[in-house]
Amino acid sequence: MSIPAFTPPILMLDLAAQHAPLRAELDAALRQCLDESAFIQGPAVAEFVQELSQYLGGPHVVPCANGTDALQLALMSLRLPQGSEVLVPAFTYVATLEAAALLGLVPVPVDVLPTTFGLDPHAVEAAITPRTGAIVAVHLFGQCADLESLRRLADHHNLALIEDNAQSLGATFTTSTGETWAAGTVGEVGTTSFFPSKNLGAMGDGGALFTHDSSRAELLRQLANHGQTRKYHHEHIGLNSRLDTLQAALLRVKLRHLEQWTAARQHIAARYDAAFAGIAGLLVPARDPRSTHVFHQYTVQLTDPTRRDVLQKHLAALGVPSVVYYPLPVHRQPAYHYLGYQAGQFPVAERLCQKVLSVPIHPTLAPEQVAFIGEAVRSFF
Ligand SMILES: *Cc1c(COP(=O)(O)O)cnc(C)c1O
Repeated sequence: MSIPAFTPPILMLDLAAQHAPLRAELDAALRQCLDESAFIQGPAVAEFVQELSQYLGGPHVVPCANGTDALQLALMSLRLPQGSEVLVPAFTYVATLEAAALLGLVPVPVDVLPTTFGLDPHAVEAAITPRTGAIVAVHLFGQCADLESLRRLADHHNLALIEDNAQSLGATFTTSTGETWAAGTVGEVGTTSFFPSKNLGAMGDGGALFTHDSSRAELLRQLANHGQTRKYHHEHIGLNSRLDTLQAALLRVKLRHLEQWTAARQHIAARYDAAFAGIAGLLVPARDPRSTHVFHQYTVQLTDPTRRDVLQKHLAALGVPSVVYYPLPVHRQPAYHYLGYQAGQFPVAERLCQKVLSVPIHPTLAPEQVAFIGEAVRSFF
């Protein structure tokens, strides 16, 4: 294959292209913020909170500074005794464990399903001890973990369920009784991130928490504002974690386009599925029929892990970027060696780290770029 001269070149993420058609709306939002100069807790924050709540079917939304703070605030709101165990997937972004570790809780990695990459409910059940306080489910790459089983397990064992929904805003899960749940609104607390690369990204950092419990929402608001219950009256030890007015104003503009971007991602995913159909040695992303998939990433698996890095080089030589999310399971990260886990203890997570590769799926990829990426992958096998 020869490298076509795509303009722009194929990028893993193309925020400039995503923002270009919104430029007038974004400029107007920025101008209004400058005119109002209410940079902290300005009107756009409350407006964005209201609109995001509506988008998700009405939970309380508490804005904060980033998705990692959101996880920390969620755990703080549970008031777990020091040393409580918090079950987390062994295959996730490290932020999922970081908050627990910082709070004097014990992150306990649990293996994931090789299909959806979500927590394996059987492994969760086996990991529950009298010290377990919470389960943190991650909806990885755009698809829900097995929310119904995890909700049931949490209820049965009297544990809190936290959903790290940094990657799957807008995904839904349909239960066995036909209810539709919005990802992030099923746990005692759900969290999300507006890091620029997420499906709903700010132009800097941002995050939010979701809960249906109004007293927990109030506690989360206080915790995110120095534990303050009224001005200069601090009931709790809190954080300073706010969503900037500027970011909220920009997010309001972008939220109006999220559904359309999600549809574009789903359309590209379907085209990749068709392009990769029948390639022996390559697995396309599995779909749990109970969940929608908002394709934060389109992540393939190579059945032969020794060929993954070779495929990545092959693609790079053709001008096709790709990324390994994630190269190391959390229990193998040096910072978490103190937890005492060994290589091989979470075999699914470890194998995934060797087998996965994510190819570009941002909503402004041109059809000919998608077709070229399909051909580039095919030409390797
Ligand atoms: C991005 C991400 C986070 C952290 O969000 P920040 O806003 O970068 O702090 C947490 N968990 C997962 C799964 C993420 O993808």
